Amino acid sequence: MPIRKLPIAQPFFPKVDVKKIKDYGDFVKEPKSLGELSTKLQRNKYDSWKEYQADIRKIRANAEAYNDAEHGGEFKNPDLVKTARLLVGLVDLRIAMYATEIIQAQKKSDPELVKLRKDYHDQLPWVQCSKCQKRRLIDQQEHEDLQTSHKLEQWVCEDRKGERRGTCDEPDDEEQFRLIATAM
Ligand SMILES: [Zn+2]
Repeated sequence: MPIRKLPIAQPFFPKVDVKKIKDYGDFVKEPKSLGELSTKLQRNKYDSWKEYQADIRKIRANAEAYNDAEHGGEFKNPDLVKTARLLVGLVDLRIAMYATEIIQAQKKSDPELVKLRKDYHDQLPWVQCSKCQKRRLIDQQEHEDLQTSHKLEQWVCEDRKGERRGTCDEPDDEEQFRLIATAM
């Protein structure tokens, strides 16, 4: 089922009615709805998945800005913040799963999907370990930091901090993520 139809997506689907929620503009300067994102996606207006992921993160940031005191908002609906965070995770996972399907197809040499991987590969937060050569999915922020500091080529599994799968002996993330995705 597409994410936009899942229950966790529903609170973010319509635009916030700023006539009813009068103080919304005090906290959120750039409102964004999942409905808008879906339309944009269907009209093929995104240049990359990274752009889509950035928009989903904007939705989360808005939910935080309005509802979470830690982010300058108020404790209006803390559950909505949790749901927004879950939504971001789910989107990342779906995109990762999509990448995995492409990788599987590449092993079977499906030319159409191989082309897709070529187009999207760089948009996904992959790194290749310099030691064991396995591919790992890392979070978007860490990936951006590595790109900025040009350290993507010197990445080693053991450097992963605070994660359970942290060594070169662990199985490839491609398989890990495929298992998680199938279970959902
Ligand atoms: Zn490694």
